[in-house]
Amino acid sequence: MKLLYEGKAKKIYQTQNPDEVICEYKDSLTAFNGEKKANEKGKGALNCEITTLIFEALQKEGIPTHLIKKIDETKQLVKKVDIIPIEVVVRNIAAGSLTKRLGLKEGEKLPFTIVEFYYKNDELNDPLINDEHALILNLVSSRDELNTLREYGRKVNKFLREFFDKIGLILVDFKIEFGKDKNGNIILADEITPDSCRLWDKKTGKKMDKDLFRFDLGDIKEAYEEILKRLKDIK
Ligand code: UDP
Repeated sequence: MKLLYEGKAKKIYQTQNPDEVICEYKDSLTAFNGEKKANEKGKGALNCEITTLIFEALQKEGIPTHLIKKIDETKQLVKKVDIIPIEVVVRNIAAGSLTKRLGLKEGEKLPFTIVEFYYKNDELNDPLINDEHALILNLVSSRDELNTLREYGRKVNKFLREFFDKIGLILVDFKIEFGKDKNGNIILADEITPDSCRLWDKKTGKKMDKDLFRFDLGDIKEAYEEILKRLKDIK
């Protein structure tokens, strides 16, 4: 298989079909723009299974995604898209960079859900941007496209908040990415995993996501396994 791209957590391979690629989930973990690194055996398989379950559920809700099917422990067959270099972050509760930027306390419930855009650019450290920045950088071709990203962000949040609530988890915030398929349609791509979400246990308040790794708070594998177990139980 010809490797087309290798990122921090995934590899993308070519297939015989020019409209499809294979996405492989790696065991590597990175935080703080790659400054902190580790390897956790089995993490790739856990994330592959978790993101597949979530994307299938979103697909059923009418949200178009790149997922075609999971093909083995760590790989998915997905539609080839041109990734829009914008990280769409949706927040329900203050945490992470929001607390640092605005001085809010971690855990403070926001009066309403907010959607933010970050420019996907490692050299610049993924800066927070507004609509006009996205347009002058040509990250999208119109304001309508930015509104589509925002609307999908809110839709995904509405569904996922209830979905995780059912399995005893609070969805604090998450990051999603979108791509354009061969017809120019905007579809959900990349992943939704505990690497890209903040999930807190409803009963204990315990963190069950990548913050465990970011701040050396505990075993991520145990937490990711627990999330997968709960997801499978409600299926
Ligand atoms: N996030 C991500 N990739 C990034 C930046 C953020 O998946 O490159 C996720 C992160 O896990 C959290 C949400 O987006 O669920 C908001 O992240 P934040 O802006 O607070 O940044 P952080 O402080 O986590 O770097």
